[in-house]
Order: sequence, then C-alpha cells, then structure tokens
Amino acid sequence: MAYKCANCAKSYAQPTADYFCTDCGYDGLLIDDAVDTKLEENGGDREIGLCILLMDASGSMDQPAFPGSPLTKLRLVANSAAQGIFDLQQMGKADDAYICAMLFDNTIKQIFFKSVKELLEEHNFEVKVFANYLYEELAQMGGTTDINGALQAANSFAKSFTTRSIPNMQGYTPLEHVVLTKAGQSRVVPNVRVLLYTDGVQYIDGKSDPLVSPFKEWETDILMGAFFGDSSESGCNELRSILSKCPNHDFEQFFLLDQPSKVAHLRKLFRMASGASGFCPLCIPKE
Ligand SMILES: [Zn+2]
Ligand SMILES: [Zn+2]
Repeated sequence: MAYKCANCAKSYAQPTADYFCTDCGYDGLLIDDAVDTKLEENGGDREIGLCILLMDASGSMDQPAFPGSPLTKLRLVANSAAQGIFDLQQMGKADDAYICAMLFDNTIKQIFFKSVKELLEEHNFEVKVFANYLYEELAQMGGTTDINGALQAANSFAKSFTTRSIPNMQGYTPLEHVVLTKAGQSRVVPNVRVLLYTDGVQYIDGKSDPLVSPFKEWETDILMGAFFGDSSESGCNELRSILSKCPNHDFEQFFLLDQPSKVAHLRKLFRMASGASGFCPLCIPKE
C-alpha cells in the first residue's frame, strides 16, 4: 500500500501527518494507492446486463400461431424477438445489453451471445434481416421438447455470467439494480433475465417428466415464462407451476400468448427481457 500525491506523483509508504504532500505543497490530500487502483478497475469495467432467450424450436412451433392464421408460431416469434431486441437501440441500451439465444427441441443450440450493438451491426441495422436469420435457425430444428434441459443450460450460463467466469470475456461488471418489494423492502437483483417460451410440455424419449426450475434456488427468481396456446392446455399449467411471482408486483412471471392482440405484447416482452429488466406483465411499460 502506498500514498500518492496527485500533483507530483511522489509516493509515501506512510501518509504524512496532515495527508498533504511535503514535497510540492499541493493542497490536495494524498491518495491511497490501493483504493485508487480499485476505482480505476471498476471505472474501466463495462457494466452490462444479460438476457438469455430460451426459444422453443420443436416441431409444433411450425403450426399456425392462431387458428386460421397464415402466420406460424416460429415466424411470429422470430419477428417479435427481432423487433423487441432492436428496439433497445432507440432506448440507448444497445452497448450494454447482451443477449444469449439458446434454441431448443430435444437438443440445445446456442446461436449467439452478443451485445445488441453487435447484433445490429451484423444484420445491417435491418430488423427484417435479423428476423429472417432467427427464423432460419429456428426452422432447422423441429424435434421433441426438452424444457428441463434448456433451463439447466440457461442456469449454468447465467451463473457463469454473474460470477464473471464466461470464457473469453473479461473486464465487465454484471449490473445490479434495486427493486422495491410489495412489502416495501428493497432487494438487489442482478440484471439477468431468462425468458422461456414454449407451446408444449416436457417430452423427450417418449417420456413427459415434470418441469424443474433451477432458478427457484436463486435469491430472486429471474425466470419469465410465456406460453403459446390456450390456458387450458397441460403445457400451460406445467409452465405456470415452476414460475415465481414478481418481487415488485406480487404477480405471476407468466405471459399467455393465446390471441392475435397479444402479438404487440410479445414484442414488448422481448424488449423488456432483452434489457434485462422486469418480471411480470405489470412490469411492461405502458406506451
Ligand atoms: Zn507532491
Ligand atoms: Zn412486475
């Protein structure tokens, strides 16, 4: 540890009696070197948020989004996700918002982990180009549905993000923010969200096991779930059974996509999650 003059840079092993530099007479206090370096380190780090998208690419997603609609669920998701993610540009969040997209059927495929800025540049700032890219990736899958496997993969990625152990990525600080609970307490929450959407039940190897969410073990459950279909379907109840309630609104972290009017909702949901904020439908900002 050393104490340094900010003016002449003379270094002292012990601070002077009054913390003034005896050499140059500078009227500022000597600076504790150790504290100084730490501040610099933090200042140099980028504070970033993360959104993990768990995107169902199972076979059934290729069906119409709503009865009689020419739009498939896959197309609707690709368009809404692309728009919601690119919306962050107008909100000035493109640099610090990172998106990890994991597609799943009975397998899991991470198609990217990039900042919104990188995604914008890669797709020429054209939402259509990005939507088509997402659609092509989603359409390549089409197997059965391993939601549990997807949740496990997202959990380990989210953990390596918050513990700063993502390979090939240094010099960042995971953002945190404070939410006020309904009971009036403040709680620190990492700026990490996982958004899972699905249209079915857990089904692999001819078996339909119950869903298990590893995010239940987090101090604040960062998982949001959206269901494509009717609220009476068993997949809908399954999904709701693993979701927690928004710490702010005490409302289910659940979104039902059962009619065309909810399409606009889906884009806003992707936007909110991509900015690593919000938990429940009441958290979506009103326009
Ligand atoms: Zn000095
Ligand atoms: Zn909420």
